[in-house]
Amino acid sequence: MLISCPYCGPRDLSEFSYQGDASRMRPDAASTDIKAWHDYVYNRPNPAGPHREYWQHTAGCRAHLIVTRDTLTHEIHEVTFARAALRAVGGRP
Ligand SMILES: [Zn+2]
Repeated sequence: MLISCPYCGPRDLSEFSYQGDASRMRPDAASTDIKAWHDYVYNRPNPAGPHREYWQHTAGCRAHLIVTRDTLTHEIHEVTFARAALRAVGGRP
């Protein structure tokens, strides 16, 4: 599998480290909604199809990326810098 780093171009998967699910949003720090915190901390979806994931180009430029990958075919649909994607939604994971 190749991941196309925005800085370095297409590189082998072995140069990257998986950093977790990028689709989850952390509840507001002041929230006392126990169910929302429980879901954020303990529940992990296992989607079949396109999924947003954090990856780091650890053997390259070390950039943190959001990769949209199809979990059924491993096809990569989109790669963006994590910082830019988080800025666009105005939050932190
Ligand atoms: Zn890179």
